[in-house]
Amino acid sequence: MAAKGYVKLASGHQMPLVGFGLWKVPKETAADTVYNAIKNGYRLFDGAYDYQNEKEAGEGIKRAINDGLVKREEIFITTKLWNNYHQKDIAVKMAKWQNEQWGLGYIDLYLIHFPVALKYIDPAVRQYPAWWLDDAGTIETERIPIHETWQALEQVVDEGIAKSIGVSNFQAQSIYDLLTYNRHPLSSLQIEHHPYLVQPELIKLAQENGVVVTAYSSFGPQSFLELKSKRAEDAPLLFDHSTVKKVAEAHKVTPAQALLRWAIQRGIAVIPKSNNPDRLKQNLQVVDFDLSQAELDAISSLDKGLRFNDPGYYLEKKPLRIFAGGAGDSAASQ
Ligand code: NAD
Repeated sequence: MAAKGYVKLASGHQMPLVGFGLWKVPKETAADTVYNAIKNGYRLFDGAYDYQNEKEAGEGIKRAINDGLVKREEIFITTKLWNNYHQKDIAVKMAKWQNEQWGLGYIDLYLIHFPVALKYIDPAVRQYPAWWLDDAGTIETERIPIHETWQALEQVVDEGIAKSIGVSNFQAQSIYDLLTYNRHPLSSLQIEHHPYLVQPELIKLAQENGVVVTAYSSFGPQSFLELKSKRAEDAPLLFDHSTVKKVAEAHKVTPAQALLRWAIQRGIAVIPKSNNPDRLKQNLQVVDFDLSQAELDAISSLDKGLRFNDPGYYLEKKPLRIFAGGAGDSAASQ
């Protein structure tokens, strides 16, 4: 049994159910933000090579350890392999390099960020930390199968660089496939998950196979407004939705807390991001109240299959339709 507020991964390690997301946390403030989050009780940090703030986040954690706020073993670091580094030797090298950036001895959970390999780009000269190779928006895929990248992650575990491994943005078929050859357990599946994109079948598949689901973008359109996503601009805010507000009011919590509780109570971990101290605190206070089954169902019924983080939508020059046929597919035509 996992301790309260934690979930046990298939690898045997425990992961906090609430973490802090590092996407769009500026490099310049990341160390202070992370230090402050630890002071407020956060123990899990969700990073990625793509977020370009691993070194600074690690510095914040090291400062907290040196100041006696926490011990290394109380902190859980998740980070991810970016799409340009799927080739086996390169993936292992990247994991080592990212681990050095964090500077904390090991990574707790290492994920394949997306199920698509892009052309290699030297990280030392990488000027465009994104999908694009240049200012013209060029995208080039690479012929590297997922099993090769997964084997790299298994080597990363064998070498003690990461304790657990998993995937992000994968759909059912690639998960079933991976489960036919994996040597180390698939500990976590990180996916976009909010009331407009519930994906109940994908969650069932993961949970039936002992894979812990982590939800990202729990507040739906909110995070994508900053990116000027038309899809997000056209969607009503979840914080203002009458169903979410009603549930929140009944429990004297904020709509954000109701949304996080909706996920956690269904065994799904969350990693909200906030640069605001009050929100940062409230997002952690989501383990001490329970929604009724009717309230959980009412929130789940808001599902519209509306996906915001969709490279089949925002990569205009060369859409990568990795979610085709799954939830959110029809949203692509909007
Ligand atoms: P999020 O759903 O956590 O929303 C962030 C937005 O909500 C920000 O604008 C923030 O100011 C606001 N917010 C936060 N707490 C609030 C509160 N209590 N009340 C009102 N507003 C609040 O969005 P996200 O950053 O997209 O997702 C969270 C994390 O998930 C990321 O930081 C990242 O670590 C991870 N993520 C992973 C992937 C992936 O491909 N694996 C993709 C996106 C995000």
